[in-house]
Amino acid sequence: MVQKYNTKGKCIAYLEQKRWSGLPICPYCGSAKSSKKTQEFRYTCHNCGRSYSVLVGTIFEATKLPINKWFLAICLILNAKKGISSLQLARDLHVNKNTAWYLQKRIRRAMQDDDYILKGIVEIDETYVGGSMSNKHYITKVESGKNYKAGMEHMIPVLGMIERKGKIILKVIEKAYGQEIKPFVKSKVAPESTIITDGFGGYFGLDSHFERHIILNHSQNQRNINQFNTSTLEGFWTLLKRSIIGQYHKISKEHLQEYLNELAFKYNNKDKSISTFNLLLNNLLQPKYANS
Ligand SMILES: [Zn+2]
Repeated sequence: MVQKYNTKGKCIAYLEQKRWSGLPICPYCGSAKSSKKTQEFRYTCHNCGRSYSVLVGTIFEATKLPINKWFLAICLILNAKKGISSLQLARDLHVNKNTAWYLQKRIRRAMQDDDYILKGIVEIDETYVGGSMSNKHYITKVESGKNYKAGMEHMIPVLGMIERKGKIILKVIEKAYGQEIKPFVKSKVAPESTIITDGFGGYFGLDSHFERHIILNHSQNQRNINQFNTSTLEGFWTLLKRSIIGQYHKISKEHLQEYLNELAFKYNNKDKSISTFNLLLNNLLQPKYANS
């Protein structure tokens, strides 16, 4: 993949095919009549007379960064299972750390995809991440129990919902309270679903909204009721914490949500016939990402 798009020409050709299917369309007036300029990768519109390239009106136009650096950044981010730090990205791309940070932020934003509803069997669980990363022992302790312990005010609560054999939704929440958790769960999970949670009070009362609410008593080490458990999400939390400890000393709420978007995007698209690379470039070409 990296070799495939190592020059500006290869990247532009790919984007032209993707955006125009081979027939250039003027981004200013919509005309399909144009002639190729002698200058590389540009066209002159026969209708309005303006000159354009495939990058006009996209996020790639606004940046001075060579287009192949964008492509390479996307490849590096997609290939890193647990994510890549912006410092590592800077080293790999030979750009400064601000540029790497900018790229990572924009690429993660294009990974945001929360326009779906979970259904069937849905595991719901919450965890705490962040805070002082120097105390790994402490984090392990928090993982095993759900009680809000002293010192946890620096940790960020995250809510996760995952459909059996389906998609995942990960969200940073303000506080792990029912008044915030319940409306969000109801808005993202179809009422005919079977939901599985632990006995945490924040989920109390959801049984009246959903077809079935299975409550595992984790404090008494009840991991399963028949085939129902929250082990897919618990596995995900382990991965999340390991990657965060590996990459970040401290993480802000906003940054954590962007990181969660990246993890969810990779998870949700892992079995897609269209590659995540294609999907991401489709997203990045959309005008809504252009002015950011
Ligand atoms: Zn035109």
